[in-house]
Amino acid sequence: MEQKHVLQTSLENANYERLVCPVCGFDYIHIRSISVATGLNTITIGHHGTFITNSPTSESEKASLYRGVRVILEYICESRHHGKIILQFHKGNVIVEHERLEDIDLTDPNLEWDIWRC
Ligand SMILES: [Zn+2]
Repeated sequence: MEQKHVLQTSLENANYERLVCPVCGFDYIHIRSISVATGLNTITIGHHGTFITNSPTSESEKASLYRGVRVILEYICESRHHGKIILQFHKGNVIVEHERLEDIDLTDPNLEWDIWRC
């Protein structure tokens, strides 16, 4: 059963909330990439750097349907779940969407967990 929330109130600090897996609610979640799609192009920051597409992508086409920017955060949960949390601007509101992707094999030695981590 999927969770309805992507934020969890912190028990230690009332000044912030934690992002949680929309599938299982686990708060051990990694940001794999972030993309910003307009109706014209998509900018993505991922493990291998920053990339700009100057032609429409599926995400930029969706952004143009809503008449606003689309911010896509690709995550991996430490319980194997993989997906996108999407902030879609539309006429003064921001719609939060979730798109589940295929679960991840956590034993893959080449798995790219994060955009960057020290
Ligand atoms: Zn999960």
